[in-house]
Amino acid sequence: MKIAMIGTGYVGLVSGVCLSDFGHEVVCVDNNPDKIARLERGEVPIYEPGLDMLLARNVEAGRLSFTRDLASAITGADAVFIAVGTPTRRGDGHADLTYVMAAAEEIARAASDYVVIVTKSTVPVGTNRRVRETVAATNPDLDFDVASNPEFLREGAAIEDFMKPDRVVVGVESDRAAQVMAEVYRPLYLREFPIITTDLESAEMIKYAANAFLATKITFINEIAALCERVGANVKQVSKGMGLDGRIGNKFLHAGPGYGGSCFPKDTKALARIGQEYAVPMQITEAVIKVNEEVKRRMIEKLLDLCGGSFNGKTVAVLGVTFKPNTDDMRDAPALTIVPAMVGGGAKVRVVDPQGRREGETLLPGVSWADDPYAAAEGADLLVILTEWNEFRALDLAAIAGRMATARLADLRNIYTASDASAAGFEAYESVGRASWA
Ligand code: NAD
Repeated sequence: MKIAMIGTGYVGLVSGVCLSDFGHEVVCVDNNPDKIARLERGEVPIYEPGLDMLLARNVEAGRLSFTRDLASAITGADAVFIAVGTPTRRGDGHADLTYVMAAAEEIARAASDYVVIVTKSTVPVGTNRRVRETVAATNPDLDFDVASNPEFLREGAAIEDFMKPDRVVVGVESDRAAQVMAEVYRPLYLREFPIITTDLESAEMIKYAANAFLATKITFINEIAALCERVGANVKQVSKGMGLDGRIGNKFLHAGPGYGGSCFPKDTKALARIGQEYAVPMQITEAVIKVNEEVKRRMIEKLLDLCGGSFNGKTVAVLGVTFKPNTDDMRDAPALTIVPAMVGGGAKVRVVDPQGRREGETLLPGVSWADDPYAAAEGADLLVILTEWNEFRALDLAAIAGRMATARLADLRNIYTASDASAAGFEAYESVGRASWA
């Protein structure tokens, strides 16, 4: 099969590389010349574990290539995937479809033979129909189908998720398109992963409903965590006790500094917006968006308390700024709210992140960067764990405490315990959803 992937970001690149690994011939297209130049040199522009090796293997096998030229990429393609960004539109929370519709038009102008135009980007209900109308209006003679194929991969575990998905969702309107999509994912059948074939609207809705549900689960436990702190309960024990119930499940029940990332914040806002447009308010999702902002504010209050009520003149070491471990993605990371609050309050902030520095240097003005947690802690008044990278899970806490001016630890991912901190010589320890000890 020949496949073109339009948009070579976190989703497009991982999908393109994995589809080529299935044995398909894949051309990845991006209109960012720098990105394509790097990929052509064999460099991977994002951090995603395992992607560099898989990419090299398939380029070498002649199945995977990169170009800026969309027209050449889609010549003879059986399926063209649109995997461009759908960020939040400024002002109204709606998903910005500019890039999706521009890609659809470009595809329409360049295509001449039957092709399935597949939307992989997360798009509001009705978008695939708009894509179909746009393509038909731009190239009335073109024989084509549209398909909705939302992506569920998680950054940091993206290859595993793409290769061994819980399910593949395909929304189609014709048997012919369904057959092409079945062929795209045929290598997965050997492993018997379910492919759910639906209409276009249901496929689009599945993606938003799934993300809003996961964001709700995280926010629910974060709200329970706030109550745990007051009543003297331990949220780790509470989520374990809840999660062992098979109807609830233990995933996405870890209390922390609020959800962030490239999907949950924008997709919850987009779903809320869709609900408003159709006069069916998404009240739960709207509450989740609001509570998540409060969770981040609550974290700032915690840090402020640990600094004695003012950040002014304090030195704070921050471990981790990406929205989760194993990615360099900082889009909507809680760090983007929490760190500027400390800098704005007059703190000197030193940051360590295994992969976040390149993005963080632009997104977090006024901070300095350290090479490791021990260097960051030197003379600091507070150490804050914001992202649970493996590198921060087995620190020599006594060595850290010994380097600090005042040894105080805000463990916003609940990696350690109060007794770990106390044994290491910390004079104050705060976590999320557990009785505070200061
Ligand atoms: P991204 O911003 O990393 O990548 C988008 C890429 O598309 C960029 O490289 C951009 O240059 C390129 N692009 C834009 N317009 C183009 C055009 N006309 N022609 C060629 N290239 C073009 O975005 P992403 O994180 O990969 O997300 C893409 C979509 O997938 C979004 O809708 C997102 O919601 C969805 N999604 C993302 C994830 C995730 O974990 N990042 C997971 C599931 C779904």
